Amino acid sequence: MSDKTIKKVCVIGAGTMGAGIAAQVANAGVPVLLLDIVPEGATNRNAVAEGAVAKMLKTDPAPFMGKRAAKLVETGNIEDHLDKVADCDWVVEAIIERLDIKQDLYAKLEAVRTPGTAVSSNTSTIPLAQLTDGRSEDFKRDFLITHFFNPPRYMRLIEIVAGPQSDAATVARVRDFVDRKLGKSVVDAEDSPGFIANRVGTFWIQQAVNSAFEQGISVEEADEIGGKPMGVPKTGVFGLIDLIGIDLMPHLMKSLTSTLPADDPYQKIARSEPLIEAMIADGYTGRKGKGGFYSMAKAEDGSRTKMAKDLKSGEYRAAARPGLVGGSAARGDLKALISAKGKVGDYAWSVLGPTLAYAASIVPEATATVTGVDDAMRLGYNWKAGPFEMIDNIGAAHFVERLKADGIAVPPILEAVGDGTFYRIENGKRQYFGTDGAYHDIERPEGVLLLEDIKRTAEPLLKNGSAALWDVGNGVVALEFTGKMNALDEQVMKLIAQAVPMVAKDYKALVVYNEGSNFSAGANLGLAMFALNIAAWGEVEKLIKGGQDAYKALKYAPFPVVAAPAGLALGGGCEVCLNSDAIQAHAETYIGLVETGVGLIPGWGGCGEMLSRWQDDKRQPRGPMPAVSKVFEIVSTATVAKSAAEAKDLKFLRESDGVTMNRDRLLYDAKQRALAMVDGYTPPEKPEYRLPGPAGAAALKLAVDSFRKQGMATPHDETVAGVLAHILTGGNTDITEVTTEADLLKLEREGFMKLVRDPKSQARVEQMLETGKPLRN
Ligand code: NAD
Repeated sequence: MSDKTIKKVCVIGAGTMGAGIAAQVANAGVPVLLLDIVPEGATNRNAVAEGAVAKMLKTDPAPFMGKRAAKLVETGNIEDHLDKVADCDWVVEAIIERLDIKQDLYAKLEAVRTPGTAVSSNTSTIPLAQLTDGRSEDFKRDFLITHFFNPPRYMRLIEIVAGPQSDAATVARVRDFVDRKLGKSVVDAEDSPGFIANRVGTFWIQQAVNSAFEQGISVEEADEIGGKPMGVPKTGVFGLIDLIGIDLMPHLMKSLTSTLPADDPYQKIARSEPLIEAMIADGYTGRKGKGGFYSMAKAEDGSRTKMAKDLKSGEYRAAARPGLVGGSAARGDLKALISAKGKVGDYAWSVLGPTLAYAASIVPEATATVTGVDDAMRLGYNWKAGPFEMIDNIGAAHFVERLKADGIAVPPILEAVGDGTFYRIENGKRQYFGTDGAYHDIERPEGVLLLEDIKRTAEPLLKNGSAALWDVGNGVVALEFTGKMNALDEQVMKLIAQAVPMVAKDYKALVVYNEGSNFSAGANLGLAMFALNIAAWGEVEKLIKGGQDAYKALKYAPFPVVAAPAGLALGGGCEVCLNSDAIQAHAETYIGLVETGVGLIPGWGGCGEMLSRWQDDKRQPRGPMPAVSKVFEIVSTATVAKSAAEAKDLKFLRESDGVTMNRDRLLYDAKQRALAMVDGYTPPEKPEYRLPGPAGAAALKLAVDSFRKQGMATPHDETVAGVLAHILTGGNTDITEVTTEADLLKLEREGFMKLVRDPKSQARVEQMLETGKPLRN
């Protein structure tokens, strides 16, 4: 029984969380049954669950990764369909947070589930022991808490709580499924109130709000000091509360104060401010309401001004940019931040001192190790560093001194670490300080391989200012982009040129991979603009030709190349993937050829590679035009896939390419894919195309002309589309002639050089560099 894998899931409760969890199960390609109550007097007894799916199809950011996923969700209700649970291997309960209602549901579930089926609750606050009270020993063995974060697709953290009676194999099965299939990072939590992340997070938010009111500083000052410099989301706390909803705060507070013991430090700081209560009562609940601590005022001329709430008067006024934090404190030096004179240091310490001390006090009560707290805060609240990593940054001994000076109780683990650190590197392994007073290696689960770990002991095989090459074991190397935002430039191309002969001689395969938040947003536009400003056309052309040569050298190298993108893979970042033998993409990959947005066209082989992909699809209608039109439509509108699944629909990924749900498993999976191709590897044949030439280009241009007349395209869009049409239709050719890859690359170069000299394209590049927003000229 306990060796059965999870092939079908049932989610009960189709609210915010249940619906999102069901979507993520479907995103993993696993069928899911979504049940909710029968609404009173309803003719459609499945209306709640069906409505939840319909709503998700319109939600942005999307809970579903693609249309195919939505089809895997079967809807129903708990009165008519609960017996279908018998076919499910895991039941996730995500209904209203009421013990009696949850217990009642479990009693019904007990009667219909197949023994061995895992049952878990998504509760945020109710102890496991209470949830299973009254259930059979069998049920208790298969029961656990799986606490997802909102929204389930995008938040990486999941806290898992196993009870004393939970069966280890059941817990392991669920754990493995949420890790590999749902892509979540599991943190083991104890059965204590609020578990880990919300417990620390709620304390932190409360403390930051209290201090701002007590010290009489503005929301902008508080967020400036308590945002980016602390390595927490740059919104700061007030901006964050606006985002999650001000009305949620009293609920969070109530649930924690009612479940934590009376002597817990949170009890002393939990309070509500009259101003905040009034804001909630008047509908000022944050971004979803009429406004929050910040709001946007729209003037009659349409201009918008950012406003901020004055915490003393309760009125809105134009938001200020105080510019208080400078020097090393602005660059992540926490000791400098809390030691700064005046407002900055006072506020920073009043937030960080008690919050980090509190976080340190919940080990081992809420989680066995310091890594549990740190992982939870990084993954669940998007902190750059966890509380213990922050204490290391400050220096534990100094931190304790300050706590003592302020009369704040020093948690035992801080006493124990003394003047040491919570983390250290020993023999190339990262270790943490345990509650036993000894250091322990941080072990990675099987199938997790991180460049971050490799870098701790190894030197790069090659390195320059924009890229590096690493030995990642078993004869595989990783090509890493290292420039600002992983931008691509001639240094990257130079490194590729050096890498190819090196790998051919001494290694088996290459993966293109990095651990930046984005794989690559494309070519370094700043550099391109510099060349444009001095009219260094030769340099620009060299960059285009150099990129084409480097990418084709990868494509035709005598060894397999696997690209492993995650996050944005745009422009040249997309093209390096297209030129690889295979792609192993993280599920959250946003890939596209966006060059037309800056008045240019893909110049590093993207046009030909996309044509090949669409032409190879036997399901497309025959003849040259369908593929050409498809690629034209995708590239001229700068379409970006919003997931790896969507990238398959757009053919940035081939059907045969792989998708990894868990970010930490991407390098390992890419490496395995590359190794599987090594035996008998031969580079791909050079593609040949039959393209329609000027007649086809004329048809495409006609369509754009009509878009322009309807106001859907600008005059310069039409110019850019014209150049793209010329390339994709093969230039001066017709279907009786063969167009080679080299011909297409030449057309790309000519088209790129023509556009790059156009002042309107240059204006687009300039605006993108200055504002990050496209110019619609
Ligand atoms: P919600 O109010 O959005 O949805 C609850 C759903 O449960 C509703 O659709 C309701 O119709 C349904 N329901 C009520 N009684 C039911 C019953 N007897 N059988 C079947 N369905 C029933 O709530 P939510 O925010 O999705 O929270 C659900 C659970 O997840 C709660 O336990 C909550 O504490 C927890 N949680 C919430 C968040 C969050 O951010 N919202 C995060 C983590 C965990």
